Amino acid sequence: MLYQFAKDSSSRLNLGLAARSLRDVRLGALTTFLFNYLVQEYDVKRQEANGLVIPTAMDLEVSTFCPRRCRGCYVPVDERKDPSVISYGTASRAIGKGIDLGMRNFNFIGGEPLQNRTIALIERLVAEHPSRNFFCCTNGELLATTQSSLDGLVSKNNFSAALSVDGFKETNDKLRGRGSYGWIVEATRYLHLRGCFYGGVVTVRESNFEEALSDDFVDSLIEQGLMYTLFAITDDLPEERKREALKIIRELKQKPLFIYNSLTGHTGADSRGCMARELCVNKDGKVLSNRKERIILGDIDTIDVETISRDPDWRKRFNS
Ligand code: SF4
Repeated sequence: MLYQFAKDSSSRLNLGLAARSLRDVRLGALTTFLFNYLVQEYDVKRQEANGLVIPTAMDLEVSTFCPRRCRGCYVPVDERKDPSVISYGTASRAIGKGIDLGMRNFNFIGGEPLQNRTIALIERLVAEHPSRNFFCCTNGELLATTQSSLDGLVSKNNFSAALSVDGFKETNDKLRGRGSYGWIVEATRYLHLRGCFYGGVVTVRESNFEEALSDDFVDSLIEQGLMYTLFAITDDLPEERKREALKIIRELKQKPLFIYNSLTGHTGADSRGCMARELCVNKDGKVLSNRKERIILGDIDTIDVETISRDPDWRKRFNS
């Protein structure tokens, strides 16, 4: 199986992306992210071969606080006003549990996870687990405006900022607030200069469908140095539009950019194969069915992998 996996992976090698990465990204960051991603993909393949569905990655909610008011944000307004941050103990135990389960990829999520009051915590967690990948979804504001305080964090080879960007300036500012596109531009300049491995999260909805999935927009992301993009396809798009989005995304994969989508992952264009099986943990240490639906499955300290794997609210996202 390992031989077949290696063969399949090498046949999908994106030479343009490989050349860009080797030119622009610190080698330590590149190898760390590539290794952990491939181990996870192999793990998912192995699970599929054995009919298993077990978590392979974790969404760790650092804080639900966010001063922005983006259209379509799933975090309730009152939770966005809550300034509390996950404790070091809870975050550390959650990551430890994930590592015990074999996870190599962790996503810091919010609210806005990258705030002045979370930087020290995030930097500590990332530094404590140098062999694991830590992604951080962010609107880019802090990266654009408070750069010196982030130098320590972005210099870590296992940290990657995933910038939320939903279109060119006019569209992005309309959806994510005035000035938000400017932060992305400034943040990418900063990250590029430091040889970081960074990417983006593009939420695809009806109002930005054509633009977000256009050649011009994706080319602009490449020009800004993004190495990967997650197209998060919103649940409220009709099925037909979702299929259309997947078809366009399949064509976009010719570009020198690693493209992942929230419906089928990376390799499975028409199936749910190779989707990371994320486990979402909130700032109080509760395991949630997923970050949007937020059904509590148990406590991170006591829940066991069988309970998670059997839970229909958690499994359903993985087509099982
Ligand atoms: S930046 Fe993120 S958390 Fe904040 S309002 Fe926008 S979508 Fe919601």
